Amino acid sequence: MSQAANALYRKLPSVDELLRTTAMLELAVREGNAVVAEATRVVLARLREEIAAGHLDTAGVDLAVTGIHDAVERELRRNLAPSLRPVINATGVVLHTNLGRAPLSRPAIERIAATAGGYSNLEFDLETGQRGKRDVHVQRLFAKLLGPAAYEAHTVVVNNCAAAVLLALNTLAEGGEVIVSRGELVEIGGSFRVPEIMAKSGATLREVGTTNRTRIADYENAITERTRLLLRVHRSNFAIVGFTEQPSLEELVALGKKHKVPVLEDQGNGSLFDLRQVGVNNESGVMESLRAGVDVVTYSGDKLLGGPQAGILSGRKEWIAKIRSNALFRALRLDKLAYAALEATLAEYVRGSYDTVPALRMMRISADVLRMRAEALKARLRHPKLAAEVVAGESVIGGGTAPTATLPTFLLAVTHKDLSADELQARLRANDPPIIARVDEGRVMLDLRTVFEEQVAALQEALSRL
Ligand SMILES: *Cc1c(COP(=O)(O)O)cnc(C)c1O
Repeated sequence: MSQAANALYRKLPSVDELLRTTAMLELAVREGNAVVAEATRVVLARLREEIAAGHLDTAGVDLAVTGIHDAVERELRRNLAPSLRPVINATGVVLHTNLGRAPLSRPAIERIAATAGGYSNLEFDLETGQRGKRDVHVQRLFAKLLGPAAYEAHTVVVNNCAAAVLLALNTLAEGGEVIVSRGELVEIGGSFRVPEIMAKSGATLREVGTTNRTRIADYENAITERTRLLLRVHRSNFAIVGFTEQPSLEELVALGKKHKVPVLEDQGNGSLFDLRQVGVNNESGVMESLRAGVDVVTYSGDKLLGGPQAGILSGRKEWIAKIRSNALFRALRLDKLAYAALEATLAEYVRGSYDTVPALRMMRISADVLRMRAEALKARLRHPKLAAEVVAGESVIGGGTAPTATLPTFLLAVTHKDLSADELQARLRANDPPIIARVDEGRVMLDLRTVFEEQVAALQEALSRL
């Protein structure tokens, strides 16, 4: 080691010396001794590395030493600032999987707040004083909501829909065969693949038909004594158009009845709300499937339902009871905060107050209202380098719902004199809170459908600061 470098090292204070300074003592009171000491060690080690690499001369070291306190604070912020944080979703994708899918309703958030910090009767029967089951907190609401279906459906809930499918396949078909159309062997974002889930469940996949056409006879010809289940999978994120054929749910159910094989439908999006109200006509919901006689339907809590992440299984009493008693259920169970949010969300459905559920409210906003909001935001933008224009466009429901269905909207199309659309998009992403927007044909497109009204001011401010 050179003498010059040694002289530089000697200029660095020790960890102990630093921790005794007033500024560091104050920092330690605020953030805790251990993390401040750790951050100080990291900062000093970094300076030693820079000296070793020959990046610092005497003046550089002196400067770095005066800045050590700031560097320690920066290091602490980097370590302790939340990584998971709120963003403004200006994409117009209502159930954006990468942005956390369904935002929770006020009542759901309040129920989480009311139960999260203390003890609750999660698995405790307050009447008898005995041990209870966590299922009961949502069962009466599901019974009410699904009551008008063709048969009295029972419901259990697990951690997400992928878990629900795994659990249903394992319970109903382990060691046997499951018949599914080649047109439904889907992959859903985040690598949920039907054939792989099937393999993990211990059931054997029996593919029938072709990618575009599968007839009821294809299913019937494949039925053997090994068949345990007929499976229908919602295509979720793609559509097959043109020369296509797929038996109706009723036909599948009739075939299942004839051969005493249950029918499982993995619906994914699982709407308990009539989507025709928002102009989406080719999506049927949970009720329609139960009415068609499907034995078990699986669906997500945080897609069209607009609640917390959850996987819901609704269906015939005997199958749901079997599913509930599978040992896997314990491994896949839902946590208490999600139960609190799910119960509150379902109560809003029972009340019929759809507009308190953000995902439903956002889907129901009319294009006229969105045009007015976009015009109002445009009028408030005063920036010499920004140009904005309100243009007609389309919002997407997302979350694997109706891949071909869109909602008419109006977009604020923004360009900047000195920045490309990609640069503009990156600047918005770097905002606090980050703003997520799409780029289309050289313009940044802001869709206010998914921007909460209380976020519009922050959006305006971010645009004005560009
Ligand atoms: C979304 C989806 C799933 C997975 O649901 P998660 O709640 O994300 O686990 C499974 N099946 C279908 C058809 C889906 O659309």
